[in-house]
Amino acid sequence: MFRLETDRALIESFRSPDRRVIEMPEGVTFPLFVRDYLAWTETSGARVYLVFAAPGSRKPIGIIFRRDTSDSGLGSRICDWCHSTGSSSEVGLLTTDVNSKRRVGVCLCMDLRCKEKLEDAADRSGRLPRQALEQLRERMFRFAHEALGIEAQPAA
Ligand SMILES: [Zn+2]
Repeated sequence: MFRLETDRALIESFRSPDRRVIEMPEGVTFPLFVRDYLAWTETSGARVYLVFAAPGSRKPIGIIFRRDTSDSGLGSRICDWCHSTGSSSEVGLLTTDVNSKRRVGVCLCMDLRCKEKLEDAADRSGRLPRQALEQLRERMFRFAHEALGIEAQPAA
């Protein structure tokens, strides 16, 4: 769990080139307590925002993903993070900038509602979702670290 004191703290969780293009989530008030992660989709549907903290850290990490609209193949796909399957409108390629010259893509739930899917799956099997949600944050951080070079910082 981490806390965002102000909208500015939310904006500053993103990397600096992303900060000027952020559409804030609707209906949030500050200070904001985030249990697992925060995800929202831009009203245009073009971009999806993620704010989470690495396991063992309370420093929020923000990533902006772009939906790859050319990715409209048939068949079902699997989300890299929660392992849910879905059609191309539900699970698909989300891309983000590594730097001004390079982008990386990862196959994810298009709305990043991985948490709800893991909670549903845990409910159905009578397990507690905590462990699955921890693994989800580990996968988020592995992507941030390995693909984008973002470091975890322990809570100050
Ligand atoms: Zn997912």
